[in-house]
Amino acid sequence: MSSLHLRGTVLPDGDVRDIWVLGDRLTFRRPAGEVTTVHDGGFVLPGLVDAHAHLGHDAATMAFDPALFEAAGLAYAEAGTTLLRVPGHREPIPAQLRARPDLPRLVTAGPWLAWAGLSDLDELQTVPADLAAAGVAQALANDGWCKTYGDWEFDTAKVPEAVLRGLCDAVHAAGGRVAAHCQTAEGTRNAVLAGVDSIEHAWFLTPELLDVLAARGGAVTPTWTGFVPHVDVVRTKPEGPRKDWFLGGVASLRTATVEAHEAGVTVLAGTDALGYGDVVAEVEHLVAAGLAPAAAVGAACWDARRYLGFPGIEEGAPADLVAVDGDPRVSPAVLRHPSLVLLRGRTANRR
Ligand SMILES: [Zn+2]
Repeated sequence: MSSLHLRGTVLPDGDVRDIWVLGDRLTFRRPAGEVTTVHDGGFVLPGLVDAHAHLGHDAATMAFDPALFEAAGLAYAEAGTTLLRVPGHREPIPAQLRARPDLPRLVTAGPWLAWAGLSDLDELQTVPADLAAAGVAQALANDGWCKTYGDWEFDTAKVPEAVLRGLCDAVHAAGGRVAAHCQTAEGTRNAVLAGVDSIEHAWFLTPELLDVLAARGGAVTPTWTGFVPHVDVVRTKPEGPRKDWFLGGVASLRTATVEAHEAGVTVLAGTDALGYGDVVAEVEHLVAAGLAPAAAVGAACWDARRYLGFPGIEEGAPADLVAVDGDPRVSPAVLRHPSLVLLRGRTANRR
């Protein structure tokens, strides 16, 4: 069997290299035997990442449906998004779907674990008797992550810092990491000070909190895609504290994007989609917020992969990559039209 060969400018380093694909591994050393060149010229970057995806849930009922998971996963793969972090899932992903070579690699975190003192929770959340023990169990049962909340409603109790610290300390002691939904100043503050690794939605961050987060290698996922479509509708609503909260929170995402990056926090591109999420659109939101295009692509690619423990294009790395004709560091939109997507060394797109 012939091995695949690509040549192009490899990102993020920018060196022109030859890459060969041996099964699910990349190598810079030409293998013996027959070689088929599948891409020559342009740019080659690691597979894209949606760091906040909830694929497989029915938008009306929020029930998990394996057929929806499969369809969304195939759409992600075809679009070049080969790695998904799933911070919140109603049921474990069935083993036969996890094993599918044509579906993206997964970093799951188990169900949405909520502190019992939060008000107005919906059917999505699980309220364990012992939040810390549940977080440890989910991090171990999944891919090293659990998902929780710093807050829920804007005008009801937030999760106390001590509760979140108990969870973070227990999960960290077990080698895991914690992602927390944070949409209020108090909830975000408590989550950052308590040791949460990845601040999801990341409303109302401050420069002081960003410095705390940066010092321990933390991350933020601003999930612009989940909020931007609602802004114009909310603007038409009567004045009031809920409207102020939403619009103030979305306005604060610039802090969670540009200032976070400048402070040394890892910014992650996440769509918060229940089905297929367009991570290139999220990259464009990051750019619109003021992030340099190269950094925005990194948030959906090499920086996100490194944060989640996946190498980029390196000797022996998993064979997930995207080849494009134009330079995505200049125009991220070129990522919408990959000339080639490889997932586990297999062609995942139809062009
Ligand atoms: Zn979410």
